[in-house]
Amino acid sequence: GGDFNQNIDYVFKVVLIGDSAVGKSQLLARFSRNQFSLDSKATIGVEFQTKTLVIDNKTVKAQIWDTAGQERYRAVTSAYYRGAVGAMLVYDMTKRQSFDNMARWLEELRGHADKNIVVMLIGNKCDLGSLRAVPTEDAQEFAQRENLFFMETSALESTNVETAFLTILTEIYRIIS
Ligand code: GDP
Ligand code: MG
Repeated sequence: GGDFNQNIDYVFKVVLIGDSAVGKSQLLARFSRNQFSLDSKATIGVEFQTKTLVIDNKTVKAQIWDTAGQERYRAVTSAYYRGAVGAMLVYDMTKRQSFDNMARWLEELRGHADKNIVVMLIGNKCDLGSLRAVPTEDAQEFAQRENLFFMETSALESTNVETAFLTILTEIYRIIS
């Protein structure tokens, strides 16, 4: 049966940011419910999803926040960032502009979030390899310079989605515990 009375040792708030249509909501759907939808409108209005997992024998509840259509410049409010211990900066590897905008999103994040926040750069839609517009090396270089974790994912094919979330959550745990 379901373990509803599980003791939670930690709650980690992680925020998803990045341009519209890069796949933030689908990454969250894949991680939290193992679902994917080709219809992006299907997820509008979702504030956050939780998933409970065990790290180092501790029960960690990941509370992953989704922008739910507020991606316009400066439309994401400070309440969204408040209390976040992790952030995933998501771009679409087939859309160069979404990668070029990462610097701006990072600046916005650093202006709002705690200075110890763990940040991961995510190049999503790696299933669309033939349409790639962002070389892996460009993203690696940016991540290295800005001290970010980096991973390429596909919410559609489930590639690296679990690994990306586990990596950021484990790093947060390492810092906080
Ligand atoms: P958001 O605006 O960043 O939340 O983006 P969505 O999650 O709504 O995704 C936007 C569109 O991209 C939708 O049509 C999704 O089905 C599609 N999409 C999301 N992730 C992937 C992926 O990994 N691969 C492909 N091929 N399409 C994706
Ligand atoms: Mg969305």
